[in-house]
Amino acid sequence: MSKSSYDIALLPGDGIGPEVVDAAVTILDAAAAAYGFSLSYTSYDAGATLYQSTGVSISAATMEAIGSADAILLGAAGLPSVRKPDGTEIAPQIDIREHYGLFASLRPARLFPGVPTRVQAEHIDMLVIRETTEGLFAGRHDPLEPSDDAVSDRLTITRATSERLFTLAFEQATLRKATQGTPGRVTLLDKANVLRSNAFLRKIFDEIAAKYPDIASDHLYIDAGSMMLVTNPERFDVVVSENVFGDITSEIAAGVVGGLGVAPSGDVSLEHGVFQPCHGSAPDIAGQGNANPVATILSGAMLLDWIADRHDDTTCRTAAAAVRDAVASVLAQGPKTPDLGGTASTSEVTHAVAEALSTSR
Ligand code: ATP
Repeated sequence: MSKSSYDIALLPGDGIGPEVVDAAVTILDAAAAAYGFSLSYTSYDAGATLYQSTGVSISAATMEAIGSADAILLGAAGLPSVRKPDGTEIAPQIDIREHYGLFASLRPARLFPGVPTRVQAEHIDMLVIRETTEGLFAGRHDPLEPSDDAVSDRLTITRATSERLFTLAFEQATLRKATQGTPGRVTLLDKANVLRSNAFLRKIFDEIAAKYPDIASDHLYIDAGSMMLVTNPERFDVVVSENVFGDITSEIAAGVVGGLGVAPSGDVSLEHGVFQPCHGSAPDIAGQGNANPVATILSGAMLLDWIADRHDDTTCRTAAAAVRDAVASVLAQGPKTPDLGGTASTSEVTHAVAEALSTSR
């Protein structure tokens, strides 16, 4: 059921996080105004700066509160200079993922004209879906074996999570085909020729694929698939993989379409969605006013799409497409931030996107 107003929880975080979240909010507001719905925001502290002053990277109260929002937009959390006593970085986004069981990471990789790429391709538009709770990460909390000679990690694949993951992948392929004219194909990347767990994964994939006769499906071994992502990225539509292979695959896909400044992401379950740029807090450029806001603005478009799905709200879906089109026109004509070879500031790019959005209506 669509609503006239949606609640968004903002977690601006550290470094350039607040700068790019501000930019995304400007664009979300412009989209809401142009398409006739409203968004309300509540901002929460989380990240390394909070950890320095309180000893926690996200409070229990914040963890609970963000769960009742319609969607969550995160900037970037963590700073290389701030670490826990065990040496690990501050990453409340991983705590949120575990707390809310966000089992899939969505990483669209689309080549926008005007963005430099090192591959020879005209049209790249894929969605990489990575499972985020199992695979080799499932054994992360296992006690360390008492040995100086060998250590092993446990790789776990469960039927329940795999079925949810593949259903999401085929649903996304169906939606993309209907709304964006994509070919409608899901490709599984695995190592089913060597790993029993991956043979099991492939079997479940084929079972789910059989339920979607209108969507093509195929599998590639992760090694060959990784090469093909670089040599023939145009062949991919939806790409799905288990945790570690999917982690690597999403970075390859982001690199192929121009890097971190333009790569959005969403961590989702069936009930909750956290949207954030793929980049980190970039402390080297924080406060200079020239961070590229595009990845966070595109994450905002994903957030609108996610709300549209949950609430069957076609207005939000149209607004999300309009945001992507506005970004595409600005990337094609400029202005651009220094990471893309331009000289523009974050706010100049943001205003150009807002302008393109208002004239598209
Ligand atoms: P993390 O481990 O937290 O993901 P990281 O170590 O991969 O972070 P980033 O913070 O993403 O590192 O920064 C990597 C490089 O990319 C830095 O030089 C940074 O300035 C640049 N960078 C990251 N995001 C942006 C952005 N939005 N605009 C411009 N440059 C960026």
